[in-house]
Amino acid sequence: MPELPDLEIIREVLAPRLAGQTITDVKVMRPLVVRDLTGTGFERTIAGRVITDVRRRGKLLLLPLRPEMTLAINCKLAGRLQYGDSKARRLGRTHVEFQLSGGRVLRYSDRRSMGQVYLTASVDAIPGWLDMGPEPFDLTLDRFREQLRPFRGEIKGVLTRGRAVAGIGNAYADEICFAARLHPYRKRTSLTDEETVRLFGATQSVLRDAITTLRDRVGTEIHREVRDFLTVHGRGGEACPVCGGTISEIKARRRLTNFCRTCQPGGLISL
Ligand SMILES: [Zn+2]
Repeated sequence: MPELPDLEIIREVLAPRLAGQTITDVKVMRPLVVRDLTGTGFERTIAGRVITDVRRRGKLLLLPLRPEMTLAINCKLAGRLQYGDSKARRLGRTHVEFQLSGGRVLRYSDRRSMGQVYLTASVDAIPGWLDMGPEPFDLTLDRFREQLRPFRGEIKGVLTRGRAVAGIGNAYADEICFAARLHPYRKRTSLTDEETVRLFGATQSVLRDAITTLRDRVGTEIHREVRDFLTVHGRGGEACPVCGGTISEIKARRRLTNFCRTCQPGGLISL
């Protein structure tokens, strides 16, 4: 599932390539992911419009169009974007293809068909848009504290739900909790101020470092999801790089959580 760092790289790669391009044609091969919030027809409304920029908000990739309209892509679990030559082989389960005036194509593929490609005149109409928390890099420590306050549950869930802070998913929440030395199932209400400071610092450093790494590793191959550099996520059973203990793995609510019981104590104790 693409999270903030993955989407930032996709945005960096696509922005200079797509800005100024006219979408000359739209092909919907599988309509399951298409959400036309305009009611005027997805293909018909998009064709002829110019992509003015590529932006990101939370886990959404945004393509503002001129005349005014926005394409918003939520990759969810398995959505991928492919940019390149129209003759290049399509990734499996391509749902939508946008033909660009420069001769290239942008494709959305999704082997789980769980993502969404919205077309809307107003981003406020996108489900969940108005509930989205602030961007992590826009936060100060004080604002972060304020954002967390209404949420009392487990810190991993608070980070991933997107209302306290946007853009963090399952993988980076594990990385942030590990970097902050906090058990992912600790209740937010149990955190001391010093722990909240650590959590804030980890949020900033983990996401920033991941962007730097991915810029190098992904390059322009934006359909690839690179996760092999993560410290604990996806590494259940391996040795903790800090203490040498075994990284734990818990599968709950169809989500994988990895952490180190030694470096991140607590969690099941109610504090
Ligand atoms: Zn450890």
